[in-house]
Amino acid sequence: MKQQYDSSLCRCRLIVGLVTMLSAMVFAGGTNGWDFAADLPAGGHPLRALWTVKQGFDVPEDGGIAFDLNCTNPELFSHITFTAIRGDLAVPAMVGAADLRPCETQRIYLTRRDFTLKDLVKDGKLPDGKLDDWSGFESLRISAWRIAAKPADVKVHIANMAEFHGPPPVPLVPPPNAKALVPPREGERRFISCHRPYGVDEKSGWDKTARRMKACGFTDVLPLMGRPGGVYYRSSVLPVVDYVTQHGDQLEACLKACRQYGLKCHPCKVSFNLGRDCPKELSERMGKEGRLMVTADGRELKRWLCPTHPDNIRDEVETFVELAGKGVDGVRLDFIRYFGTDTCFCPRCRALFEARTGAGDGWVKKLKGDPALLEKWDAFRCGNITAVVKAISEKVRARHPGVEISAAVFTGDRPVNIARVGQDWQDWLAKGYVDHVSPMTYTRSRNSYLVMLERNRAGIDAGRCYPYIGPSVWPWFDKPVKPARLREQVNAVREAGCYPGFAVFEFSEYSSKLCEKVFGKSGKSGE
Ligand SMILES: [Zn+2]
Repeated sequence: MKQQYDSSLCRCRLIVGLVTMLSAMVFAGGTNGWDFAADLPAGGHPLRALWTVKQGFDVPEDGGIAFDLNCTNPELFSHITFTAIRGDLAVPAMVGAADLRPCETQRIYLTRRDFTLKDLVKDGKLPDGKLDDWSGFESLRISAWRIAAKPADVKVHIANMAEFHGPPPVPLVPPPNAKALVPPREGERRFISCHRPYGVDEKSGWDKTARRMKACGFTDVLPLMGRPGGVYYRSSVLPVVDYVTQHGDQLEACLKACRQYGLKCHPCKVSFNLGRDCPKELSERMGKEGRLMVTADGRELKRWLCPTHPDNIRDEVETFVELAGKGVDGVRLDFIRYFGTDTCFCPRCRALFEARTGAGDGWVKKLKGDPALLEKWDAFRCGNITAVVKAISEKVRARHPGVEISAAVFTGDRPVNIARVGQDWQDWLAKGYVDHVSPMTYTRSRNSYLVMLERNRAGIDAGRCYPYIGPSVWPWFDKPVKPARLREQVNAVREAGCYPGFAVFEFSEYSSKLCEKVFGKSGKSGE
């Protein structure tokens, strides 16, 4: 196996070498070409390969930018992000790595619509929701995000970066062509998230929302009922938001509607993330109490809570016990993880790590270059998150047996998730801390979706896994709405044969209409 792998790698190198030589010959007259490499060891570190194409460019309105791309090992990555950089402005465009063929040069066309403004808008950097000036970008940053834990020596060649005008000759993502739904298996469970605590919109409320969900053939509802800073139901554990005083207990309303329409209800509560709209005072108070996550260089993350602070742990456990006691069918954990690789280095976490592992002075600085220490750090972080999941599970099961416990989790190989966010959900499943999980398999590429489905079932009982489908996660890409994209992901889950259902994220004003179009008021999700 090893030998076969090495020889194919050699072939790739040879081809890349030839392509590079060819590029140099053909483009000697002032055109451009860049070679990048990354030696990725087995495991989850580093999480991504990062390169920069130092060439200025504009993204014309009637076209975009194009370049040749050749990657030796696209299968290692979930996606490759191409980020247009201008000063401190960074606008990303995502390419599904599974749409790239190894060692083959493909021309990539990026239009303005392929660049994502969502996070810039959410962070308040684009108040009117659009980017007015698409000129004068200084460079293109390439981030190849790991999905596979296997080692590889990756080579990437970029050439002929130039503006183009007119429609892109090759679409960035192969167009969807699923015309009909594959029939579901018997007893298929179809979860639907709703990320607003009051239903699809405030006017509809839960009665109308639940009726529409039922008409789409969904079986289980995952309503987001709050974050550590405030919840939308009467609580004796967490602060209750004003909305409840004015409009009533939203969990009660949701549960009543679910009962009326024969839907199961699994309220979802975000664990360690305070949310973008978290009041500044709350975040400041959390900081003063030492409850926020801290990066290696000592920066407090204003929206993230540290999973080793006793008050944070107590709030998590008691919240889920309280929720489970409200007559619901299940509880859903979300954001039960670290922010990323670079947390948490708060004084308490440092002291705990030192006490447990005997790590000496200056270990934080040595961490990245010391694989043995990194392994201990990963185990420490995972242990902290798993301890919270275990504590929630034990108490919920003791007090409210029969209430399902589930979690939204990261997608990718187990070591990659462990390194990335300290989330060992395969372990949670194996030990029975959770009944089922939904990996966040968010992509618009069918090929990437298939790869994720395949990787997520490794080493687990897939009968306890309901992959996410995120039609509303990328609504700006596929306008006008393409129901075929939703259909092809539903079909992918059904055709995989091993999954007992799926979870759609989420029932918004936009995607609820898409769901109705696809699942049909009478179509009942293809039954
Ligand atoms: Zn900490």
